[in-house]
Amino acid sequence: MPAKKKTVAKKKAVAKKKVVAKKKVVAKKKSVAVKKKTESRKKPVTQKKVSSAKSNRSNNDFSTFTPYETQKGEEYMNEVQLEHFNSILNSWKQELMMEVDRTVHHMQDEAANFPDPNDRASQESEFAMELRARDRERKLIKKIDESITMLESGDYGYCEQCGIEIGIRRLEARPTANLCIDCKSLDEIMEKSRS
Ligand SMILES: [Zn+2]
Repeated sequence: MPAKKKTVAKKKAVAKKKVVAKKKVVAKKKSVAVKKKTESRKKPVTQKKVSSAKSNRSNNDFSTFTPYETQKGEEYMNEVQLEHFNSILNSWKQELMMEVDRTVHHMQDEAANFPDPNDRASQESEFAMELRARDRERKLIKKIDESITMLESGDYGYCEQCGIEIGIRRLEARPTANLCIDCKSLDEIMEKSRS
């Protein structure tokens, strides 16, 4: 893909000025973004798989970022955009990891607090549910890590199947997306026909 080559070449040049350039843009963006936040904040549409609403709240918390505003003629996945997604991915990961930690501690505290077998049984099934939720979170963390690796290698933001740009909005709704919307839909259709 030509896109890949470009990113590598670009990266080198970028590395030097990165720190300076990045800071300026972020500072500028903030004041504008704060105002806009309330109106332009949309619910992440693609987050459909989130079940068991109670304990999964944190899975959606990456949406606390400020939506990226593209400048005219801006290059896709330039250093500012990369930084934007890097920070989304990292803070999302942090939150998930804190959530995992919290549950482990919570379960340690609660464990063996119920001498009554009935209470114990209901507690155990509650734990089992928690563990499943944590398991999902761990998998999600793994996906986030993969995305961060792709960010570093310059592959982030491009469809793994067809190489097309996945797009800022789709990535903001689903920061770990590695397929464009078309390939993703196709993928889902194929999956259904297989099972
Ligand atoms: Zn594609």
